[in-house]
Amino acid sequence: MADNRVVQGRMVTPESLAEIIEGESVMDAEAIEDADRDCPDCGGDVIKVGYMPSVTEFVTGFKCQDCDWAETDRE
Ligand SMILES: [Zn+2]
Repeated sequence: MADNRVVQGRMVTPESLAEIIEGESVMDAEAIEDADRDCPDCGGDVIKVGYMPSVTEFVTGFKCQDCDWAETDRE
């Protein structure tokens, strides 16, 4: 896949990025995209990935490429 990205010096796939954000394995993940926002902690570039932590849930996760900051669109 061509949409692998470097996060904190490490190459990630959509699935592995989703797992970093979620903290556990996910069922499926879409392509990684640029989020049009800067990290609130370090000002670095933020990327986003849509993923399914379970069959009934779809979450968009955000992750800074330079530090540990991450969040999801969960309420
Ligand atoms: Zn950051």
